[in-house]
Amino acid sequence: MDLGLNGKVALVTAASRGLGRAVALRLAQEGARVAICARGKKQLEKTAAEIVAQTNQQVLPIQADVSDPRAADSLIRSTVERFGRLDILVTNAGGPPPGQFLELTPKDWEIGARLTLMSAVRLLYATVPVMKKQPESSILAITSIAVKQPLPNLVLSNSLRLSVIGLIKTLADELAPFSIRVNGICPGWTRTDRVDQLLRDRAERKLTTLEEEAAEVAIDIPLGRMGTPEEFAKAAAFLVSPAASYITGVSLLVDGGMYRGVM
Ligand code: NAD
Repeated sequence: MDLGLNGKVALVTAASRGLGRAVALRLAQEGARVAICARGKKQLEKTAAEIVAQTNQQVLPIQADVSDPRAADSLIRSTVERFGRLDILVTNAGGPPPGQFLELTPKDWEIGARLTLMSAVRLLYATVPVMKKQPESSILAITSIAVKQPLPNLVLSNSLRLSVIGLIKTLADELAPFSIRVNGICPGWTRTDRVDQLLRDRAERKLTTLEEEAAEVAIDIPLGRMGTPEEFAKAAAFLVSPAASYITGVSLLVDGGMYRGVM
């Protein structure tokens, strides 16, 4: 199926590694020009060069920390200056600090809110006026399976990501008259570098191996394994593409069946 992404312009934030990188690469493979951002210049430029080498598409790397209140405006401005338009926004950021409620402080909540909620809010304020002039635009927020099923030791993620879902569900309604679709995508266990590091830490603590820890995680997943960033990216590319023209306001789980609830 042709997703209809050829010639589109996309901004994917937090995309030098992991899920963001995989989504940017997939969109470029489908013919989109992409802007990507991350905090570290070296890895960002390496990723941009890899995407260009694999797809021959134009890629704009922009060094930015999405938790910086000034980042959103400058990201959108740079993307539009370079490519003349913006059809697709994929909001992503690093995960908020882990911890149980009593281990964290209100200050941690403020840091987490800046990273997880306000980065998306500011990106949307900067993006919507541009997209309103361009019907058939699309926004996708990367969240987590935590919005369906709270995860242990992640109270900030469990709480703040639900605000993002409330935001996109509301905007799906408010922006539909402008033909702007707004969706969320919720990864379950997906084998990125960050997940490998987490499993390595667990293995060190428990005197096991990384693969033993990966196998233990997989016990709870009906498909019997973690997902790959590429599998996640295919679902994300579909949701932002014209092929999903009648889908707005959903939060799609990409979790190998791990969430057992019916709703
Ligand atoms: P990752 O650490 O592999 O990649 C994160 C990317 O974001 C990197 O490119 C990093 O440079 C960039 N980044 C981090 N903080 C940033 C900031 N403040 N500004 C700009 N760029 C920033 O992580 P991942 O596994 O790809 O996860 C991406 C998001 O999805 C995270 O929020 C994570 O919590 C969430 N998530 C991941 C999984 C999973 O299994 N991988 C599951 C559920 C939720």
